[in-house]
Amino acid sequence: MGFGADQLEALAECVDLINTGRITSASPSGSAERLATLDDVVAFGRRHRVENLSAARASDVLRLRELRGRIDSVAVACLAGDGATAIRLLNALLAETGAVPQIVAHDGRGPHVHVSRAGAPLADRIAAHSAMGLAELIVAGASGRVRSCASPTCDAVFVDLSRNQSRRYCDSRTCGNRIHVAAYRSRRSAAAT
Ligand SMILES: [Zn+2]
Ligand SMILES: [Zn+2]
Repeated sequence: MGFGADQLEALAECVDLINTGRITSASPSGSAERLATLDDVVAFGRRHRVENLSAARASDVLRLRELRGRIDSVAVACLAGDGATAIRLLNALLAETGAVPQIVAHDGRGPHVHVSRAGAPLADRIAAHSAMGLAELIVAGASGRVRSCASPTCDAVFVDLSRNQSRRYCDSRTCGNRIHVAAYRSRRSAAAT
C-alpha cells in the first residue's frame, strides 16, 4: 500500500481517537473512557501534534466524545464490510465539522494539508482529520484493513498495514503476547467449570 506520511498520521490519530472510548489493554480498570477531561483532550492533541491547542475549550470534551462515537460507527461499518454506510457517515461528519482543505506549515513542519481551519473548534479539527484518514483508506479500496483486536480482553481497533494483512492484535507486546492470552483463557475456562 502506498500510504503517504500524512495519511498514516491521520489514520494513527483516528485509531487512537476511537480506542480512547473502547476497552483496550491500555484502559484503566473499570472504565473505557480516556477522554474524561480537557487535559485528556489536550494530551491527545499533543500526541498527534495538533495545531493551536491553546484554543481548547471545556466544550471540546463532550463534543469530541460525540464525534468519536460517530467515527467509531464508521469503523464498525468497515469491520462489517458495509462500505455504503461508512461513506454516508463520513460524508456527514466531514460536512458537519466544516472540513475544508488548507495547505499549512507550522511548528517547523513543511507544507501539508489540513482539512479544517485553525479557528475551528479543537474537537471538530481532530474529528475531521481523523475522518479523512478513514476516507482515504476507503477511497483506496482498503477499508478491509480496519480490524478489531483478536485478544478476548481487548476491543481496540487498528488498521492492518502489513503486506500480507495477517495482523491480529492491536499491540503485539500486550494483546499478542501468547502468555497473556493463554493465561486469560485458562482463567476463564477454570471459572466456567
Ligand atoms: Zn499540521
Ligand atoms: Zn488489543
